[in-house]
Amino acid sequence: MSKKIKKIGVITSGGDAPGMNAAIRSVVRTCAFHTIKCVGIYRGYEGMIEGDFKVLSARSVNNIINKGGTILKSARCDEFRTKEGRQKAHLQIKKAGIDALVLIGGDGTFTGGMIFNKEFNFPVLGIPGTIDNDIYGTNYTIGYDTALNTVVECIDKIRDTASSHKRLFFVEVMGRDAGHIALNAGVGAGAEEILIPEEDLGLDRLLESLKRSKQTGKSSSIVVVAEGDKIGKNVFELRDYVEENLVEYEVRVSVLGHMQRGGSPSCFDRVLASRMGVKAVESLLNGKSNYMVGSINNKMELTPMGKAVKAHSKINKELLRVSDIMST
Ligand code: ATP
Repeated sequence: MSKKIKKIGVITSGGDAPGMNAAIRSVVRTCAFHTIKCVGIYRGYEGMIEGDFKVLSARSVNNIINKGGTILKSARCDEFRTKEGRQKAHLQIKKAGIDALVLIGGDGTFTGGMIFNKEFNFPVLGIPGTIDNDIYGTNYTIGYDTALNTVVECIDKIRDTASSHKRLFFVEVMGRDAGHIALNAGVGAGAEEILIPEEDLGLDRLLESLKRSKQTGKSSSIVVVAEGDKIGKNVFELRDYVEENLVEYEVRVSVLGHMQRGGSPSCFDRVLASRMGVKAVESLLNGKSNYMVGSINNKMELTPMGKAVKAHSKINKELLRVSDIMST
C-alpha cells in the first residue's frame, strides 16, 4: 500500500505561462482543504536540488490568481538531467518531508518527473502549463488561451498599420513544433495565410494566394507564421522571397516574441488552472501517480505521463479549411 500523503510539493518548471499562479493557488488551497501541508519549490528543478523551499498556507497565495508568470519562478536545469542531480533533489525532498509532487510545466518537466518517479518510486502528478498547447491528453494547456488573446490583440493593432499603408505583414508567433497558436490566432485575427510546422503549404501556394488577393482588390494582408513553419525559412527570409517574387508588395515583419507569454491570465485559463489543481492534489491523495491532468471534452481526466509526453496534440485541420475559405 502506498504511504499516506501528508505533505505535497508544488513546482513550476520550463517556460512560464499565464495561469501558472492560478494553478499554484489551487494546489495550495486544495491541500489546505484536505488539511495537508503544501511546500512551494522555487526555481524549478534547480531549486529542488538546492532545497529552495517554503511552506505555503492558504493565505500565502492571496491575490495571485490574476497575475502572469509564476510566483515560484521557473528555470531550465541541466543538473536535473543527471542522476547525481536528481539524487541531490531527492535528498532535499526527503529532508523537507515532502511525500509527493505536483509538477506544473511542459513535456520536458514531465520527462524529468517520470525519471524521478521511476528512480525513487516517488509520487508525481503533472499539470500542463505551456502556451504552446502541444501536449497530448488535454484539449487545452494552461496559458494557451491567454496567449491566443494576446496574439489576436497584437495582430488587430498591426492590421491598422497594414491597412493604412497598403502593406503586407508577416507576423511571427511562438510555436517551434506546434502551430496551434498560429492557426487559431490566425483565424481569429483574419490572417490571409497561416504557416505552421505541421503542414507545408508551399511557397508557390503562398505567392499564388497573395497574387490572387491583390487581383481581387485586397490592398493589405497579414500572414501569420509559426516560429517553426514547415517551409523552413525564417520570417525574414520569407519576406525577402516574397519581395523578390511579388515586387508590387511592400513587406514588413513583426516578431511578437516574449510578450506572448506575459500578462494577466484569461478567465478561461484561471478556471482551467483552478480545476486542474484540485484534480492533481485529489488524484495524489487517491493514490494515483505518474499521470497528467487534462481537460478532455470539458472533463478533468488523467493520462499516463509517458503517453502525454510521447504522443502529440494534433492541429485542427478543419481550421485550415476555414482559413482557406476566409481568405477567398
Ligand atoms: P516548455 O514547453 O515551456 O519548454 P518544458 O517543461 O518542456 O516547458 P524544458 O526546458 O524542456 O521545459 O524542461 C524543463 C526542465 O525539465 C529542464 O530544464 C530539466 O531540468 C528537466 N528535464 C527536461 N528533460 C529532461 C530529461 N530528459 N531528464 C531529466 N530532466 C529533464
